[in-house]
Amino acid sequence: MNSKEEILGFLEEVPDPEIPVVNVLDLGIVRSVEVNADGTLVTITPTYTGCPATHIIEDDIRSKLTEKGVVNFNIKTILSPAWTTDWISEEGRRKLKEYGIAPPEESTSDKSRLSENPKVVHCPRCKSTNTEMVSFFGSTPCKALYTCSDCKEPFDYFKCL
Ligand SMILES: [Zn+2]
Repeated sequence: MNSKEEILGFLEEVPDPEIPVVNVLDLGIVRSVEVNADGTLVTITPTYTGCPATHIIEDDIRSKLTEKGVVNFNIKTILSPAWTTDWISEEGRRKLKEYGIAPPEESTSDKSRLSENPKVVHCPRCKSTNTEMVSFFGSTPCKALYTCSDCKEPFDYFKCL
């Protein structure tokens, strides 16, 4: 039987399929880990429905735990309340920034993603707010492509909610 700490350690090794610098714990996809006499229950909430990576995450967690020899585990997916970018940890935000992806700006619960230019996005390189959305879809469907008008660099904005 693995301890909860061990399970969390294994989950830290499961990267996000789209942004490999952050793991499923950084993103807040893993809601809880319960270990009891019946086995281990990992509860996850996928990032956003319609994100093609959603199914991959569950499979990746399953393969990682199997690879580590964890037996008798279950992965439960809950969709409500829905995942929001607020669940991304401080550590996760720092890693995204280092990777050159602008972390989501504060709460996304206003559901403004359907509007053309939802909010001010800071350039991850020079912190300028003088940025412009080039395309709603960046390198993956979860990211939008922006450019910075000050340092002229394009960057991805993580827009999943
Ligand atoms: Zn810039």
